[in-house]
Amino acid sequence: MNSSKNPLQILIAGGGIGGLSAGIACADKGHLVRLYERSARVSEAGAGIQLGPNATRVLADWGVLPAIKAIAVQPTHLRIRDTQSGRQLGQLALGERAEQRYGAPYLTVHRADLHRTLYAHLKQKTNVFLHEGREVAALSDDLNEGVTVGFTDDQMVQGDVMIGADGLWSWTRALTFDDGSPAATGHVAYRALIPTAALPEPLQAPVVTVWLGPHVHVVQYPVRGGDAMNVVLIASGEPLADATGWSNAVDSKRVMRAVGVACSTLGELLEAVERTEQGWMAWQLFDRPPVTDASALCRGRIALMGDAAHPMRPYLAQGAGMAIEDAQVLAQVLTSDPAMVGHALRRYARLRHERVARVQRKALENGEIFHATGLKRWGRDIAMQLLGSRLLDQPWLYGERLVSHATQ
Ligand SMILES: Cc1cc2nc3c(=O)[nH]c(=O)nc-3n(C[C@H](O)[C@H](O)[C@H](O)COP(=O)(O)OP(=O)(O)OC[C@H]3O[C@@H](n4cnc5c(N)ncnc54)[C@H](O)[C@@H]3O)c2cc1C
Repeated sequence: MNSSKNPLQILIAGGGIGGLSAGIACADKGHLVRLYERSARVSEAGAGIQLGPNATRVLADWGVLPAIKAIAVQPTHLRIRDTQSGRQLGQLALGERAEQRYGAPYLTVHRADLHRTLYAHLKQKTNVFLHEGREVAALSDDLNEGVTVGFTDDQMVQGDVMIGADGLWSWTRALTFDDGSPAATGHVAYRALIPTAALPEPLQAPVVTVWLGPHVHVVQYPVRGGDAMNVVLIASGEPLADATGWSNAVDSKRVMRAVGVACSTLGELLEAVERTEQGWMAWQLFDRPPVTDASALCRGRIALMGDAAHPMRPYLAQGAGMAIEDAQVLAQVLTSDPAMVGHALRRYARLRHERVARVQRKALENGEIFHATGLKRWGRDIAMQLLGSRLLDQPWLYGERLVSHATQ
């Protein structure tokens, strides 16, 4: 805890994984945190999430990792397979090997479980106030005076710092930079959750499997301590009627059309989804171009983080990981001096912009590689077989030591 007698008053818009993380990290430094979430209850729907060692190292620092491990799975391997032939193209050992190499585990977890755990951890803190059902609608800041936030119910609050963790369609971003909306990527994601016991044994293994096919890929991994298998399929496809919603129920025929030819093992996985109560849910993917410079992450006393700051395609499984890292760095740079807030946020932006842009670019590149056709696909498969784990491991990403950077 920060020993300061006069902590900053930190306002956070958004109670997603990013906002909760920022709340935990800033509260641990002794600041007074007020978090505003527009939904009546802070909650998270959706599917699974992979947490690389770069993210779990931060969660360990906050003391929340043991609780997350209890509801997560530590997969033994990442395996890349071909959707059509079923052939294994490459493999990377995760499990103990990743933990030893990076000093923190690679985990897979259900989003709602991760969210609930972070929420419970944040709620225990006496210097945190959670305001549910409060939607940020107005914002002004002055480097001398502080920041004023207005809500849809016409109430207002003042603080020293405003952190915009309000996601892809961020109001904080719109009110701060007015730089337009995210763009449709032309990709649609389909998700499903299958009870593991309902799968044939070879499909029950605690591994992350990425199936690659022309214009499509499928990712499967266990969540809920291994009780359920999360499946996400991403393909170029016709737009959905509800473009920005997360939970459009879709017909399995649409999903099968998107996959095209599937080997028998993948076919069994997809058929198992049809036997679940919920079936497939779909949503459209939107993003923004990679961040070009530090000025995109803060202005005055306002900072953006997570998807509000740098939404990315999910092909490196790092959107939430980057939000967790952002939270850690924000908390490291903010001192108890209100006059230094502008300086601290510029420091945050300088420390983060190149890394998040690199992750955004790598995610874009992965999308091209995953969905490759023809000669490009052939070259990819050869490279993966020759280089294997050397191509799949990401030391620059998983090995980053944030705390030492921010405190230098
Ligand atoms: C298919 C898919 C797979 C993914 N897989 C992974 C993965 O494996 N690993 C990984 O790290 N990441 C993954 N991601 C990315 C990850 O889900 C996001 O990057 C992450 O959830 C962003 O968190 P956030 O808190 O920034 O935003 P959000 O989760 O969108 O939270 C924003 C919150 O702000 C609230 N809000 C919005 N507007 C207001 C307002 N005006 N006032 C108050 N509250 C407001 C919202 O209600 C919401 O609760 C994936 C994404 C997709 C689409």
